[in-house]
Amino acid sequence: MISRPVPSGATAVAGVIGDPVDHSLSPALHNAAFAACDLDWNFVAFPVSAGSGTAAVSAMRTLGIRGLSVTMPHKHDVATAADRRSTEVDVLGAANCLVLDHDGLVTAHNTDGPGFIKALAAEADQAVTGRSVLVFGAGGAARAVIDACARSGAAEIIVVNRSVDKARSAASLAGSSGRVGDPSDAADVEIVVNATPLGMAADSSMPCDPTTFGTSQLVIDLIYDPWDTQWLAGARRQGAAVMNGFAMLLHQAASQFSMWTGLEAPIDAMAAAAHPQIRGT
Ligand code: NAP
Repeated sequence: MISRPVPSGATAVAGVIGDPVDHSLSPALHNAAFAACDLDWNFVAFPVSAGSGTAAVSAMRTLGIRGLSVTMPHKHDVATAADRRSTEVDVLGAANCLVLDHDGLVTAHNTDGPGFIKALAAEADQAVTGRSVLVFGAGGAARAVIDACARSGAAEIIVVNRSVDKARSAASLAGSSGRVGDPSDAADVEIVVNATPLGMAADSSMPCDPTTFGTSQLVIDLIYDPWDTQWLAGARRQGAAVMNGFAMLLHQAASQFSMWTGLEAPIDAMAAAAHPQIRGT
């Protein structure tokens, strides 16, 4: 077991804001990383109610909080309230990471899309460049994945969503490579991504029928709790390669750690700390 420095006046503070935030895996991920790198940093969960995201950005400047992970419902508000925004945040209008820079100003980033691309490479040895991708969903996670796939040169990105107007908006992030589709398109693409909550917790519903999948496809569920959704298990039975959302969670957190500390993230220590907290692992 790695011992931690006793917090002092010199301890750097980072945290996560959200509502709710009590089940967040971010404290486990980041405190494990700080310990593995022997850093005098502490990561805490701040419950921040809806509408107070802008105040949390001000608090960061006032209190000298070095970094914040941001979850629902603050991703839009903090993007607006930050002093500077990454290109991804400008495009998506949503941020999941805030950095207090040396000049005292706050920069907003979105590590979800890059985390997805890194997870694909690290976990499945795959890339989206030149390939066809279908994304179920058009919310925050789907938009980040679509934007990242487009930046990485995916040949075609099909968006399938319950609300068609949101599907259109999300598909437009991919420019001429993006279009709105329907669930039957999932049988014909190389990579399929579930970016909806269908299959979470006690929900046994699925974004599409997994029996249509085949051995040449990669099927990714952004859900990681439960570890194996029924949809992902169905895709595996058809011989498809499968990946759940844990690697994306890990890699988006690793990017945040590197932005805050300037160090390479200790991925294995982070995974070991968070993995036991997930059902079915
Ligand atoms: P969100 O912004 O609320 O978007 C949810 C999307 O799912 C919307 O497109 C919504 O459609 C659709 N949806 C919701 N309920 C539905 C239903 N009953 N039937 C059909 N479609 C439904 O949520 P999010 O932040 O994008 O998260 C989506 C999923 O990704 C969640 O499971 C979340 O846990 C996961 N996630 C994973 C990671 C990771 O690191 N692995 C990161 C972020 C999110 P409408 O537009 O019609 O409402």
